[in-house]
Amino acid sequence: MTEPLRHAFVTGGGSGIGLAIARALNREKWQVTIAGRQRSRLDAALESLPGAHAQTCDVTSFDAARAAINSSVDINGPIQLLVNNAGSVTAAPFEKLGLDAWRQALDVHLMGAVNCIQAALPRMKASGWGRIVNIASTAGLVGYKHVSAYVAAKHALVGLTKALALEVAKSGITVNAVCPGYTDTGIIASAIQTIGRSGSRSPEEALSAFTSANPQGRLVNPDEVASAVVWLASEAAAAVNGIALPIAGGEVG
Ligand code: NDP
Repeated sequence: MTEPLRHAFVTGGGSGIGLAIARALNREKWQVTIAGRQRSRLDAALESLPGAHAQTCDVTSFDAARAAINSSVDINGPIQLLVNNAGSVTAAPFEKLGLDAWRQALDVHLMGAVNCIQAALPRMKASGWGRIVNIASTAGLVGYKHVSAYVAAKHALVGLTKALALEVAKSGITVNAVCPGYTDTGIIASAIQTIGRSGSRSPEEALSAFTSANPQGRLVNPDEVASAVVWLASEAAAAVNGIALPIAGGEVG
């Protein structure tokens, strides 16, 4: 008898790290649902995800997150793996970072994860098995200049991970965070463009500032983040709970 496919729900799965995670899970025979706000981006991503589905949703809305998760459950059955990856960055010195940027950072990185977990956890508990992986950042472990709201929101996501891991520890569910350093995705490409346009540094100098933060002298590859998620989702990682795993070439311990 063949095992039923396990269902993974990946927020922000239409690009960058989320798409790399969706592809890796797809290769490992997970039934994947990707979620994001832009339908066109999700449709393009589905071309490299045979058999996967997409749900359009803004994770900052609990109602939208719940509706997307419920629709995906109707199609693929209960979610065994929730990957909270959706996110964005606004960079500015603290004194120039408006309250809207603070609310936006906390809404997407912290409340986006809370909303999806609230919607997915009851079925995981009922089935006695589940995996929640939060894509935090090295910015969830240490500070960086000019991204204070992002750093605060990612620290909050790591805190949520550690606390919830203890609460569900006897339910067959694990909750972990993955903390990539600067990773080769659109977020870094647009940061390099913005810095280049500002005239403060050339694009080459901006790239070098990112790569030199990593002792390996390079950007992290999204597939390297995806490999960690696949492992944390596996049966082999059943005893790994409440960790914040850096994928950063030694930048943080
Ligand atoms: P991308 O911009 O490629 O991916 C972000 C994804 O999140 C997009 O697909 C976007 O799709 C989706 N998204 C953004 N806001 C929302 C929302 N409110 N609701 C639903 N989906 C949303 O960047 P990355 O792949 O680099 O980033 C992925 C995660 O990794 C983020 O949480 C980021 O903070 C984290 N990270 C990135 C690092 C890096 O250096 N790149 C380093 C450490 C962590 P859409 O616009 O269609 O909604």
